[in-house]
Amino acid sequence: MAFSSKTEKRILLSPPHMSGKEQWYVNEAFQTNWIAPLGPHVDEFERKAAAYAGTRGAVAVNSGTAAIHLALIQLGVEKGDTVFCSTLTFIASANPIVYQGAEPVFIDSDEGSWNMSPQALEKAFIQAKKENRLPKAVIVVHLYGQNARMDELSALCGHYQVPIIEDAAESLGTEYKGRKSGSFGEFGIYSFNGNKIITTSGGGMLISNNLKKLDKARNLASQAREPAPYYQHEKTGFNYRMSNILAGIGIAQMDVLEERVEAKRALFVRYKESLSRLEGFHFMPEVEESRSNRWLTTLTVDQLSVSGLIRRLEEENIEARHVWKPLHRQPLFRHCRYIPHSEEDSVSDRLFKTGLCLPSGTSMTSQEQDRVISVIEHYYKEQSLSSMWKKAVTK
Ligand SMILES: *Cc1c(COP(=O)(O)O)cnc(C)c1O
Repeated sequence: MAFSSKTEKRILLSPPHMSGKEQWYVNEAFQTNWIAPLGPHVDEFERKAAAYAGTRGAVAVNSGTAAIHLALIQLGVEKGDTVFCSTLTFIASANPIVYQGAEPVFIDSDEGSWNMSPQALEKAFIQAKKENRLPKAVIVVHLYGQNARMDELSALCGHYQVPIIEDAAESLGTEYKGRKSGSFGEFGIYSFNGNKIITTSGGGMLISNNLKKLDKARNLASQAREPAPYYQHEKTGFNYRMSNILAGIGIAQMDVLEERVEAKRALFVRYKESLSRLEGFHFMPEVEESRSNRWLTTLTVDQLSVSGLIRRLEEENIEARHVWKPLHRQPLFRHCRYIPHSEEDSVSDRLFKTGLCLPSGTSMTSQEQDRVISVIEHYYKEQSLSSMWKKAVTK
């Protein structure tokens, strides 16, 4: 083999990238002994996130999953309800539906955005209306930083008067028609998990213009304590709040968000310039009038085995991944309903079969990126030669 493999430094998919300023906030929390609970960093992080998103408020929590859960509760999702959800996504988008005892209905993607297909959503609404079982909410995911077609999706949800929760865990920093991803629905959520565009090592944010509902969510996230001089409880709450130390990391990370978007977009362009020369390599498109944060550079590879390519990259100590396996294909959800883009075409299934995510860490050097590119080019050549050879032999 042409490469020195495991002796090379590992290239990760999307590792944390600190700016250096985080330490200052962490130290300050130590100096003031504001280790817990909550505290001034949490308030500032919430203010910063809301100002950035352009929403009236924000609630910092300990994960993006918790933020989705709180949003569902605020929208009254209960046992026996249904919730529509994008199928091509990480399991965390749908798990909170199950926490509430409700049932997800999975909606396919469209080709141009990879996100929720307005055509499939409309079909789902028509069916649900007929059965007199409209969903309580629609969870729209913005995959790999690509904003979903919010104009069409919002119009449909508006028509049926069903609120939207935007799962913007992967799309912090993305813009759609001049507005920030996550700010279009009744609620939006961000994640600060370790592999996201910015991180607090773990955390999430719930954003909304509805301050009353945000206050209720904030209260539920802190064990639903009632205002009384002693501990009084009327509802079952959760322990979902973010710590003051982690919020300090988040404040400093927010300051470099725009830089991170620029860096991710530059990585995407560089991958695309070299690899789209190879036959059958197609990069994720960008929805009109939007600017993706390109959280992960994602493409489809038509003529090679994606698993084979991922294995080869792994041999060279490079982390790459399949595109999310659609949730309607997960054994966990095998009993759930699924609405494909059209009778003949399940777009998410196709994207899963040929989709590939490449290392997209913002601290990756161009030499490292070149290493990834050349491993892929070599694999492509090798496979093309071997298939030509096979054809020649079987003639
Ligand atoms: C990461 C992620 C989440 C969950 O965020 P956590 O902070 O890890 O709980 C939800 N949805 C999507 C699409 C994600 O990528």
